[in-house]
Amino acid sequence: MAPNGPTRQKAKDKKKRLKKLTEKAQCRWCKGLKTCEEGLARIDWKNVDQLQRFVTPQGKLFSRKRSGNCSRSQSLVKAAVKYARQMSLMPYVG
Ligand SMILES: [Zn+2]
Repeated sequence: MAPNGPTRQKAKDKKKRLKKLTEKAQCRWCKGLKTCEEGLARIDWKNVDQLQRFVTPQGKLFSRKRSGNCSRSQSLVKAAVKYARQMSLMPYVG
């Protein structure tokens, strides 16, 4: 069989898929950083445009799974959204 036949391509695809599955996803705040602190310092309750990406149009917070945040950044985003609500920058739900 030729070394570069369709079988080889299939094996390549399988390898790619496995890599995708086993690769650990990084949250958008800590991406490419050695420590999380630098990234987490960028979470700001005054930056409404930034926080709007983590809530539904109604103002509900996305889950960690949906937003892709790690536990620490999700916790900080949650606190930031809640504070922004108190400062009437963002809407309450319901
Ligand atoms: Zn993170």
